[in-house]
Amino acid sequence: MQSHPLSIVWQCGLDVSAYLALGQQIEVGEQACPECGQRLGGWGGYWRWLRGPGTARLWIRRQRCALCRRSHAVLPDFLLEHRLDEVQVIGQALVLSISTGLGMRPIAERLGVPMTTARDWRRRFQVNALVLATLLVALAVRLDPAPVLLSGTDHEHAALEALGASWQRARTRFGGGVPELWCFWSLISGGRALGTNRSPPYAPRTGVDWMVLIR
Ligand SMILES: [Zn+2]
Repeated sequence: MQSHPLSIVWQCGLDVSAYLALGQQIEVGEQACPECGQRLGGWGGYWRWLRGPGTARLWIRRQRCALCRRSHAVLPDFLLEHRLDEVQVIGQALVLSISTGLGMRPIAERLGVPMTTARDWRRRFQVNALVLATLLVALAVRLDPAPVLLSGTDHEHAALEALGASWQRARTRFGGGVPELWCFWSLISGGRALGTNRSPPYAPRTGVDWMVLIR
């Protein structure tokens, strides 16, 4: 059986330049198999492009489960699966587009990304927005049972608000151990926040199992 390349998001606590500076020396610690929980073993790695001010290559570690025989790419939490840009850049584009209503062309220019790329992020977010909003509200309520009040007029606004609410509640509960907002987004979605709908984007890392990860 052909196995799909799967990603795990690792709360790395490093910014891009610190990560890059380590080159192939990057250590990702012990990760658990997302399928069975078994501790994963080292399985090499690969170079991956990152767009930014000065496009760079970074080393992504790969780990493998001896039980499931599947290998997993261990992504730093400043990335999303299959996306060339830092998650923070993607998040900024979404906020500018959804909250301020700025056009995609000026947004892409401001962030230094191709217009088609920015448009694709927005389109994918739009497609996933209802699922994202629902799961993020569920996560927020698990973190703190107070109701989540959304003023959003559509699914995309609701998803952004629900992300903010769950992030704030995670911060209140776990303090500084919780990464920045967009890294948090990547972490809890297993890197698939802008993934296609073959699998629910937030299924693997929502809720209690994710809370264990954050320590
Ligand atoms: Zn396994």
